[in-house]
Amino acid sequence: MVIEPKKRNIAYRCPECGSAVIGLVGKFALAANLLRLKCTCGEGAPLDIKMESDGKIRLSVPCVFCKQNHSYTVSEAVFFDRELFLLNCPYAGMDIAFIGEESDIDEQLQRTENEIRQLMSALEAEELSDIQPAEMNEDEILPDPAVYDTLRFLVRDLEESGKLSCPCGEGEYDLRFCDGGVQVYCERCGATHTFYATTPTMAEEYLETEEIKLK
Ligand SMILES: [Zn+2]
Ligand SMILES: [Zn+2]
Ligand SMILES: [Zn+2]
Repeated sequence: MVIEPKKRNIAYRCPECGSAVIGLVGKFALAANLLRLKCTCGEGAPLDIKMESDGKIRLSVPCVFCKQNHSYTVSEAVFFDRELFLLNCPYAGMDIAFIGEESDIDEQLQRTENEIRQLMSALEAEELSDIQPAEMNEDEILPDPAVYDTLRFLVRDLEESGKLSCPCGEGEYDLRFCDGGVQVYCERCGATHTFYATTPTMAEEYLETEEIKLK
């Protein structure tokens, strides 16, 4: 029996020209190198993927809505074994990158293309740049979206494995920035749980969390 080395498709949309960029990530290649995906237009920022020594996979993903990269940290299992994993922009609330099988990714690209069209027509925008922010410098972007991204990953992961609960028992969970960090809250009963993290490193410490009960 031959064991196929694990491979994964990843896709994002170029923030400059709006084209979908799709790449194939091999586990062995990733263990050895930083992988970089770039749009053929040559203008947009690249997507970087790197495996850390702790086995976690770090992604820097260009956001078509914010025109800056967002950082995400996912476990190897999520990256290579999850059927479909979506990376979401914390500002626009839109999915900006997809990890999974080719057919699922194509479907997501189609869905998000429609979302972008709808957004553009709602804003009476003619070009992609009309819905993007003007150039801004890093200091203006507060709080750090990487903190939100990391905690969002944790919450979705716990939610999917049934390790996130709240008093009403049928919570629909979402996240928001709050004083001192990020809060996960139940949209039905209003219960919350706060992560006190203002830097990516502080947020990553929460990744060890095994269960959360909202109060
Ligand atoms: Zn491009
Ligand atoms: Zn964004
Ligand atoms: Zn609830």
